[in-house]
Amino acid sequence: MRRTKIVATVGPACDSEVMLRTLIEAGVNVFRLNFSHGSADHHQAVGERIRKVAAELGTSVATLADLQGPKIRIARFKSGEITLNKGDAFVLDAAMDEAAGDQHAVGLAYKELPNDCQAGDTLLLNDGLIELAVEKVEGPAVHCRVLLGGVLSDKKGVNRKGGGLTAKALTDKDRDDIITAAAMEVDYLALSFPRDETDVHEARELYRKAGGTGGVVAKIERAEAVAEDETLDNIILASDGVMVARGDLAVEIGDAELVGVQKHIIRRARQLNRFVITATQMMESMISNPQPTRAEVSDVANAVLDGTDAVMLSAETATGRFPVGTVQAMNRIILGAERSHQMRDQWRREDHLPERIDESIAVAAMYLANRLAGVKAIIAMTETGSTPIMMSRIRSGLPILAFTPHAACQRRLTVYRGIQTVNFDSATVPPVEVNRQVVDELLQQGIVTAGDKVILTKGDFVNVNGGTNTLKVVEVGGVIL
Ligand code: PGA
Ligand code: MN
Repeated sequence: MRRTKIVATVGPACDSEVMLRTLIEAGVNVFRLNFSHGSADHHQAVGERIRKVAAELGTSVATLADLQGPKIRIARFKSGEITLNKGDAFVLDAAMDEAAGDQHAVGLAYKELPNDCQAGDTLLLNDGLIELAVEKVEGPAVHCRVLLGGVLSDKKGVNRKGGGLTAKALTDKDRDDIITAAAMEVDYLALSFPRDETDVHEARELYRKAGGTGGVVAKIERAEAVAEDETLDNIILASDGVMVARGDLAVEIGDAELVGVQKHIIRRARQLNRFVITATQMMESMISNPQPTRAEVSDVANAVLDGTDAVMLSAETATGRFPVGTVQAMNRIILGAERSHQMRDQWRREDHLPERIDESIAVAAMYLANRLAGVKAIIAMTETGSTPIMMSRIRSGLPILAFTPHAACQRRLTVYRGIQTVNFDSATVPPVEVNRQVVDELLQQGIVTAGDKVILTKGDFVNVNGGTNTLKVVEVGGVIL
């Protein structure tokens, strides 16, 4: 059983019913709907298609709506693209016509840029492929000298090295898309470019006002978000989970800093009881090749070894030539990494004492799971998923089975490492039979056999949130009460 989850971005290469089904069968746990592309109607239709296919397969698959955010972009060129050479003078001009770009200057989709930068800054265009040194800012015109040349085409992104562009995280389009996402009943809403926790709180408020009930994911992709440990911690705590959005993040902080920061984000997310998705270019070469490079194999495996909950595919599944092969390769690499003996260190801070009863049960369950011989599974009877989530923050090789009657809870839990969900309504079963029935379910699924031990947690009262207060160890095949 694979523990680390796979997030796949939907796009023209995989949004048919047949392809969605094949991708789920190959191992996709969460589909990301990228609101940087496509209409609201299209996302709505794809969202419904995913639910339908997952229901037919009898499995839980989550949907994640990823807002475009204030991606800062240049405007367009008369000829579509130009080539900049080292030493060229080039102007980014907020006052210029949106379609009038040429060899000397181009307009700006983001009009605030001249107010956000000054002489001495370095601007990175097209994900860092082109570097410009700002020489002076005159009114709406940012005069630059090309440090690193290359081809520049319409609407390419602009980042400032070191961060510091003031754009607010939520654009008008994002506000509309939040309403769409809420109406679609997605399981997660991902927020692009939050600067600090206030951006995350604002997005969550708008989302709740629109009736959205899903979790909120903060994409960590701005230098400001990782500059201070406290800012990062506050963003993580304001979110249900975070994404290491390496595309933009690497441009802002420099690729040399990326790996250390990625490891830090993964560790902090787990310690603060949140999930983490590692994203972007994980299997990039498979957009056009049937096999990953060794470096890509290593990248995915290392994210798994570091404790990420999920790894994400972008263009590989959205527009690539081998969406299914990519998911299969990722599945294989994850399983290999999870078998590895490198996975030793504990993820939870030993000095963190439980503050709540359900938390103490979760921690105690994992303590036993990792020490008592013969334990093969952990069962958590849950309403909101909070107990299995806390369990999954602690490292173990055992499956955590979340038994819950709520379909939305089952879908939300699919992104967490090590958790599998079972649809089960304990309110419909006589109390004395509940434990036996859930263990029987594991027997039927082949997860346990007679003689194995199973750890079981639950609350005294069904339908109570955060009510877990009981831990029991039972033996499969024995009398179970
Ligand atoms: P994006 O986010 O694909 O929406 O840009 C991910 C990243 O920046 O890595
Ligand atoms: Mn991004």
